[in-house]
Amino acid sequence: MNEQISAASLYDRVSRVIPKAEWMGFQDDVEAILDLKRKRNAVILAHNYQTPEIFHGVADIVGDSLALARKAMEVEADVIVLAGVHFMAETAKLLNPGKTVLIPDMAAGCSLADSITPEDIALLRKAYPGVPVVTYVNTSAAVKAASDICCTSGNARQVVESLGVPRVLMLPDEYLAKNVARETNVELIAWRGHCEVHELFTADDIRELRESHPGITVLAHPECPPDVVEAADFSGSTAVMSDYVSRERPARVVLLTECSMSDNVAVHHPDVEFIRPCNLCPHMKRITLGNIRTALEENRHEVTIDPTIAVAARRAVERMLAI
Ligand code: SF4
Repeated sequence: MNEQISAASLYDRVSRVIPKAEWMGFQDDVEAILDLKRKRNAVILAHNYQTPEIFHGVADIVGDSLALARKAMEVEADVIVLAGVHFMAETAKLLNPGKTVLIPDMAAGCSLADSITPEDIALLRKAYPGVPVVTYVNTSAAVKAASDICCTSGNARQVVESLGVPRVLMLPDEYLAKNVARETNVELIAWRGHCEVHELFTADDIRELRESHPGITVLAHPECPPDVVEAADFSGSTAVMSDYVSRERPARVVLLTECSMSDNVAVHHPDVEFIRPCNLCPHMKRITLGNIRTALEENRHEVTIDPTIAVAARRAVERMLAI
């Protein structure tokens, strides 16, 4: 928790990735947010793709989708501000319905969440009768409600195998399904959804990186195309990538994922050289210190979920968390 810390003293934490002049521009918002959190009894949950001034400056709880979902359940504060995208805020509201959940920008969406609707799932159930539906947490509450169980990139294989059936509809990320399919005997029927950030990486990028940076360790997110994951040295969710860097301490590494991830991990590893490229998620980047401050000042934008949808969606998420 950052409550007792001033914005000025926080700078030491982020000095490797934020120039001093830039931090001076953030300081007023950081001070105001730390104060507002105290006054409103609020906590900020930030995804690994949030910028370092948010991730290291004002967040109380950080992590990937799975970690944020688990932690959201345990929050005792009155208000949760979700520094991430809309489906994450919905998941927090599902798991802790008594709290006020705010998202600083309602337009912070996700190409995966937008790729599928409950009506699509109804059609798939007709086409594949009796086949269970596993949906990635990167979906709307309405889509979660139409599914049997959720998964994240960190537990997808475990969830699929927990069902004890030979065939599963795994939606909506085609590449995640194909990457998991290589690790399991369960037949996975995929949808055509893609993450607009991870689909941009290519196997050629990896070849060029290996030529230009000899000895580099390449870590790829499982939302990347299967040939990219195959060409990488290791693949895992953002939490698993971060653990890999802490454990293995590669001299030089590239994280094929959203840009802020490298900045946030680099803060803890001055001995590791982090190489770009990376790709920005325009939805994650809608969240700023400025709109977090406004969210707390003006209590906006409050996330609400239709109660009927919430019951079914919560069941799908809780089934996942019980595994
Ligand atoms: S990085 Fe990809 S999966 Fe994550 S919010 Fe952005 S578009 Fe969605």
